[in-house]
Amino acid sequence: MFGKILIANRGEIAVRIIKTCRRMGISTVVVYSEADADSLAVELADEAVFIGPPPAAQSYLVMDKIVDACRQTGAEAVHPGFGFLSENPAFAKRLAEEGIVFIGPNPEAIAAMGDKIASKRAAQAAGVSTVPGHVGEIADVAEAVRISRDIGYPVMIKASAGGGGKGIRVARSDQDVEEGFPAVRAEAAASFGDDRIFIEKFIESPRHIEVQVLGDKHGNIVHLFERECSIQRRNQKVVEEAPSPLLDAATREAMGAQAIALARAVGYDSAGTVEFVAGQDRSFFFLEMNTRLQVEHPVTELITGIDLVEQMIRVAAGEKLGFTQADLKIDGWAIESRIYAEDPYRGFLPSIGRLVRYDPPAEGEQGAGLVRNDAGVREGDEISMFYDPMISKLAAWGPDRITAVDTMAAALEDFHIEGPGHNLPFLSAVMDEQRFREGRLSTSYIADVFPEGFHGVAPTDADRDIVTAAACAMHLILVSRANAGRRPREDWVVLAGEARRPVRLSWPGDTLQVELTEEGRALLLTDIAWRPGQPVFRGALGGRGFALQVRPAAEGFTIRRRACSLHVLVLTPRSAELHEKLPPKKAADTSKLVVSPMPGLVVSVDVAPGQEVKAGEQLAIVEAMKMQNIIRAERDGVVKTVGPRPGDSVSADEVLVEFA
Ligand code: ADP
Ligand code: ADP
Ligand code: MG
Repeated sequence: MFGKILIANRGEIAVRIIKTCRRMGISTVVVYSEADADSLAVELADEAVFIGPPPAAQSYLVMDKIVDACRQTGAEAVHPGFGFLSENPAFAKRLAEEGIVFIGPNPEAIAAMGDKIASKRAAQAAGVSTVPGHVGEIADVAEAVRISRDIGYPVMIKASAGGGGKGIRVARSDQDVEEGFPAVRAEAAASFGDDRIFIEKFIESPRHIEVQVLGDKHGNIVHLFERECSIQRRNQKVVEEAPSPLLDAATREAMGAQAIALARAVGYDSAGTVEFVAGQDRSFFFLEMNTRLQVEHPVTELITGIDLVEQMIRVAAGEKLGFTQADLKIDGWAIESRIYAEDPYRGFLPSIGRLVRYDPPAEGEQGAGLVRNDAGVREGDEISMFYDPMISKLAAWGPDRITAVDTMAAALEDFHIEGPGHNLPFLSAVMDEQRFREGRLSTSYIADVFPEGFHGVAPTDADRDIVTAAACAMHLILVSRANAGRRPREDWVVLAGEARRPVRLSWPGDTLQVELTEEGRALLLTDIAWRPGQPVFRGALGGRGFALQVRPAAEGFTIRRRACSLHVLVLTPRSAELHEKLPPKKAADTSKLVVSPMPGLVVSVDVAPGQEVKAGEQLAIVEAMKMQNIIRAERDGVVKTVGPRPGDSVSADEVLVEFA
């Protein structure tokens, strides 16, 4: 076994690998860029080597620097994590030449699966069912149109070198292909330095189901069942689970057998993932193989009890797999939520900034379930614009799917993040949503369930009760403090969102009783844990624990429970009466302003003062998180002023263009 491993990665996955190495008694080295000098991975690793400026092209992607770091520290092997150099056969080869072990498959297997055209051909040869389409490079638009007609619309135009949801576009007509083909080609050339394009049939509302495989250097290959990753935005996964609610035993076996056949055909000898799209009728077609550890590997670990990082290290060191296919069983159900720094209320646009507060839920056994949080950050760390905007991966296990979902919902509720925007409310909405709970998934789930985008969800009766009781408790705590402990009045009115509720409060012992005087019911709040200024209120209503995210507002509080946010006021009956007579506040007229939806770099400004523009016309491009975001006019108008110039940095809500 290795004595020392270097991790050529950062963030959450670097920390994940360190944990397994530590358990195996292997010392660790991480490399880090300027942006990661104070990172958790650097703190936890035994040694850390500085490798350059923040852009990955000048640090994490520079092979010479990784090799030098191995030399300098005497590391015998390199774990590449995912992204960066993990699927680069030249890197695996280079390490071999330097006498350093690459913890991943052999370079030939990476190369064979490295691009989508070659891997689709290999899959066909191995008898794997593939998405119908043209498995070859397409020269020009005319050929693209001809091939698309042959396949039959809709089709998907794909970059052979694509990854991470980039270089993919659906086309439903000749015109879509005429526009889409050059666009995908340009994006592929810019993002991957490889502009080869192919076209395949677009499967409508499919499910994304992938099989985890694991091989050793002695010809043994097993599969560790499937993961379903159908909840996606921009073709990128957000929620994953194992097993898949769609599969029956026969389909599971067939998919596993095909995945193993493909892995065997390319001499696969590490952990890898064979991705399929599946129809609701359980037909399935090969998409691509990822020759690395997958982001969502924790769900497989939770249902099989196998540490995939450990297995990768063992097989890289030449060990034989310690188990056979017959030894592997699915135990319960696991779900993972990717907690992203992004704004779910604005089309999931990336967000960055300092984690002013970062307070994850407790890990380990929680009720009938289990919680695991894989993170590479601590409170006070910065989510920078240079890398993936992932904050952490929250996973929940349960003996059955609904227990896993409920365990996830409770853990999300207990997670507190302040600073960058985050998708916790969105993930909560998914866990509480009926179609998700029934396991009726598809890659169009988000578009189907939130057709107008995500704007939170309306409060349920349970939400209203919890928020009412908690607001009363917080109000009493604040009032009794101001009154130096004198007993406050009992009759109040709670205004929560649109609703008005007169209440009578009493507090026998540590319990707060909230009598809803017009409804003839009482709420009993116990286990109150909150002090003024704290952002999370915890308590139990009718014996059931809950957590709320609380922000003081100009008047009252803004309270979020899961996906539902409410502004809440607790007033004396007289103030409530006056309050209701106040004219509603007019919002400032911002319709003439076009603001940057996120912090980033202005790439281009495409209009000038005095110019007339139509709704939908491109005004500017702002780049953040490696993504170019086109800012379009929301209405017709004449440009009055233009704020920043290309090359300027802008903050969220900074005015880009003002209309006359
Ligand atoms: P998964 O299926 O595990 O979600 P993704 O394709 O989303 O895999 O990518 C996993 C990681 O690798 C992400 O961090 C993503 O940004 C990165 N990644 C994937 N493909 C590329 C690529 N071609 N170039 C750079 N980064 C990539
Ligand atoms: P990447 O390398 O970016 O992960 P994939 O080929 O795995 O690219 O596709 C990413 C996602 O796009 C899939 O998970 C699936 O949701 C969708 N997708 C890809 N190909 C098709 C297809 N032919 N039909 C329908 N959806 C597809
Ligand atoms: Mg993929």
